Amino acid sequence: TDSDTADEAVRATCDDASTCKRFATSKGYWTDLYVQYFVRQIGERKAPEINRGYYGRVRGMNLLIDAFLKKTQCDCQVVNLGAGLDTTFWRLKDENIMPKKFFEVDFPMIVARKIHHINDLFHCNLSLVQLYVSLTDGHSLDSDRYCIIGADLRDLPALEEKLKKFQINPELPTLFLSECVLVYMTSEQSSKLVNWVADTFPTTMFINYEQVNMNDRFGQIMIENLQRRQCNLAGVDVCQSLDSQERFLSAGWESVNALDMMTVYSVLPREDVTRIERLEFLDERELLQQLLQHYCICWAVKDKLSLGLSQIGF
Ligand code: SAM
Repeated sequence: TDSDTADEAVRATCDDASTCKRFATSKGYWTDLYVQYFVRQIGERKAPEINRGYYGRVRGMNLLIDAFLKKTQCDCQVVNLGAGLDTTFWRLKDENIMPKKFFEVDFPMIVARKIHHINDLFHCNLSLVQLYVSLTDGHSLDSDRYCIIGADLRDLPALEEKLKKFQINPELPTLFLSECVLVYMTSEQSSKLVNWVADTFPTTMFINYEQVNMNDRFGQIMIENLQRRQCNLAGVDVCQSLDSQERFLSAGWESVNALDMMTVYSVLPREDVTRIERLEFLDERELLQQLLQHYCICWAVKDKLSLGLSQIGF
């Protein structure tokens, strides 16, 4: 059916994200020792603007994630929604800032592929991996610290049931991540998801990275590119501007912040930005600016335990 085709196209987007991350790390924009296990080929060259865009995205997300882990002293959970082939869990493990438990959710088909790659990691004799991967049935993976769940984020009762089955604890401070995910559902569906988080977790932070300002010419081109691949962009109409992050202004969230990536990029640690800007020559700075202006990071918190979560920012 059409909706199967659209879902299939959405699932394919996780390869795009990881392929771009793999390429940027191969150029030295940041270090990721694990992405190679999930994306085998470095793949074709990406434009320097794309690499810098991914640099801002990964650095920006990481800054907020690490701040949350610090505030909670890792006595917390992380739930990565639409995680795709993301490697954040392994980074946190290597940096010794692992939460009590790290959950990932994606479509069952993507999860099955990811688990397959993780099984390959075993065979590479990374003995550490065995500590973190104990139980897998091919469709989900569970262990003390790491859990991967196949579920559709548009079906909240099923999502909730699965998270419960894998022992999520709503009383623990919990960080939710969605990186380029909400745009693929209707604004009604994403609002419900965000409200469910606020209703279920008294101490929580939600970090969302996605497209914004899509109503100009550049935004139209971005949308056309995705539509050409038959992606279902149900959420794109709510992403007109930073104000559209209003889905977080519903009852329940105590504070909501949104910055476009142009701003985020400009406040990233200078020294490292200087380093990466020397990696590749960029002749059209304007194109990078356009790109950065069309993405944003939004974060919202609820802080029943008064951990000072609302102080987290750039
Ligand atoms: N967050 C990862 C990253 O940034 O590297 C992957 C981003 S990729 C563009 C979008 C991901 O969201 C895909 O892996 C896709 O399968 C997942 N996704 C989209 N809609 C979903 C839904 N309704 N239920 C579960 N996963 C979904």
